[in-house]
Amino acid sequence: MSKGLLFVVSAPAGCGKDTILEQLFKVTENVGYSVSATTRAPREGEVNGVHYHFMNREQFEQMIKDEAVLEYTEYCGNYYGTPRKAVEDMLNEGKDVILKIEVEGAMNIKRLFPECCLVFILPPSMQELERRLRKRGTETEEKIIERTAQAREELKFAENYDYLIVNGELSEAVDDLKAVISAEKLRKTRCMAKLAELRAE
Ligand code: 5GP
Repeated sequence: MSKGLLFVVSAPAGCGKDTILEQLFKVTENVGYSVSATTRAPREGEVNGVHYHFMNREQFEQMIKDEAVLEYTEYCGNYYGTPRKAVEDMLNEGKDVILKIEVEGAMNIKRLFPECCLVFILPPSMQELERRLRKRGTETEEKIIERTAQAREELKFAENYDYLIVNGELSEAVDDLKAVISAEKLRKTRCMAKLAELRAE
């Protein structure tokens, strides 16, 4: 059986990557999601083991020592990392895997898995991004300005990604991501076994 493909999806806060992925998982099969480990506190509605594996700093640092994370980073004062075993198991079972991680983690994953596919979600405009951050209503004005500035910093990494998807209309962005996954699976290098089979007939 051939191994699954690894996809990395990144986007600044407010670009809608969580919603895009939620919608994607409703309509796709055989795509797994890598549940990250983090030391940040759960937000309302977040479930341990579903949204994140929530843990304290000692537990996370033990995972680092045990080389149980493929990559990790410190983001806004908290650790975030990709558990190694879960990802490797899914790939070995032939399942495609999506990691939803920030830009530095994405660059590290690309180094470890040069074959992986990096997807960056863009806002339709910076003005719209700011509007979406404001709409959440959970942030202070200072935080909104900080998050918009951080988004500009993260956008600098977008050119290192393989695909850029603009999230203007949600359903279109979901379709675009589905198209990226399909296209990646059809790459010549991933279909050589079929070609060999046909030639042997
Ligand atoms: P949040 O706290 O909003 O859930 O996540 C903050 C940022 O950390 C987001 O950009 C998210 O994609 C990223 N992130 C989540 N899990 C991981 C991970 O395992 N590794 C890395 N490098 N980033 C992560």
